[in-house]
Amino acid sequence: MTAASQSWEQRESGSFFHTFSDLPSLSEDGPVVVERGEGAYIVDTGGRRYFEGNSGLWNMTLGFSEQRLAEVAARQYAELPGYHTFFGRNSKPSIALAEKMLALAPVPMSRAFFTNSGSEANESVVKLLWMMWAFEGQPRRRKFLTRKNAYHGATVMAASLTAKDYNRAFGLPLPEIVVLDCPHAYRYAAPGESDDEFCARLAANLEATIQAEDPETIAGMFAEPVMGAGGVIVPPKNYFRHIQPILRRHGIPLVADEVICGFGRTGSLWGTETVAMQPDIMVASKSMSAGYFPMGAVMLSEDIDRRAKAAAEALEEFPHGFTTGGHPVGCAVSLEAIRIITEEGVVDNIRDVGAVLQSGLEQLAEHPMVGEARGVGLMGALEMVADKRSKTPFAGHLRIGERIAKAARERGFIIRPLGSSVVLAPPFISTTSEMEALIGTLREILDLVHASARKEAA
Ligand code: PMP
Repeated sequence: MTAASQSWEQRESGSFFHTFSDLPSLSEDGPVVVERGEGAYIVDTGGRRYFEGNSGLWNMTLGFSEQRLAEVAARQYAELPGYHTFFGRNSKPSIALAEKMLALAPVPMSRAFFTNSGSEANESVVKLLWMMWAFEGQPRRRKFLTRKNAYHGATVMAASLTAKDYNRAFGLPLPEIVVLDCPHAYRYAAPGESDDEFCARLAANLEATIQAEDPETIAGMFAEPVMGAGGVIVPPKNYFRHIQPILRRHGIPLVADEVICGFGRTGSLWGTETVAMQPDIMVASKSMSAGYFPMGAVMLSEDIDRRAKAAAEALEEFPHGFTTGGHPVGCAVSLEAIRIITEEGVVDNIRDVGAVLQSGLEQLAEHPMVGEARGVGLMGALEMVADKRSKTPFAGHLRIGERIAKAARERGFIIRPLGSSVVLAPPFISTTSEMEALIGTLREILDLVHASARKEAA
């Protein structure tokens, strides 16, 4: 058969090596090949239309047909289609974007630089801090603190910081990684423990871990304000207030991984604001270009900027960078995406429509199969349990999350399965009625999946 006589779905199964895709589901259901998009919807090769309840990978936050982003890209391609930021070179959009990011930062930040992805941004921070500590005569400060269920990316160090079991497939994490508790009260708070008691216990564990490792071996800590791919884990209100003083006392810089939360997702411009974080370094990606160009960013506080600059000066440079980091088209697109987000009431919409999403999820928490409904702004998750009282998870073979996501897809909604949970992260341009439709569909699906899972478990 020639390629032309095959469907795109057949062609992909003969040619494409899928990453981060559940292979049993893929072989059973085949891929969804997306042809185009309109607003918050994607349209596949068969003409089926789906509400993109995950904004692609959290990133297509202004939807799939924002012409102004395409026009800005076209204009920039015509003027300067590409350049770099090595050897003292730069381009106007990259400088303007650095200024914009610093102006919008939730805590004072002094300097920014750009990468092509969130992983590269995190990887860049690791190298920057290693260089800084070595220059300051503390070369033993090599270790990084991260939290169970964190997601920080897929490159070797970023995957190491991603404290998920699947990275054992690669013999990761690297030895420099120290994994802390996950601030998920539903799963990890002791019976009867209040949020503040839970946070105090996690803070005591942090102090004990730092002492056991030796504070002078720790280079930094990475934390998402709200954990995204770990299942939308919103920390208890005072979590960062408990842990930050400990980090500060030991001189451990805190890196806010704002790849998902940054630019509105949690209902504030930054997740840092939502959870009262005071980071020394910030990393952004995804929404900063609304997914229209691969972009990542690192912002440094005045203190880290000064110290890293001194280290770089001793070496004559920060010997690091990516060919297309700070790409003029990506920076121009990001400037426009950020302008739309900050000047056109997008964060207000996230708050309004997010309130509808959160109250809908709260109602679904009543469902006998839902252990916890959680979220903030326009991100949320439902965690399914076999027994609500004991919080016993469903057996893995029942593939509850996959089943719910599949049923949603059949009804025209893309949502993301994650073990026994499903994750929602609708575009920032979603409407109240789209949220109501999503919640209504989920209610119907939960009943169906619950009935079939009980029958199978019986
Ligand atoms: N950090 C966080 C919090 C993320 O969610 C992600 C991606 N989902 C990354 C880093 C990695 O970003 P990328 O896939 O662009 O490398």
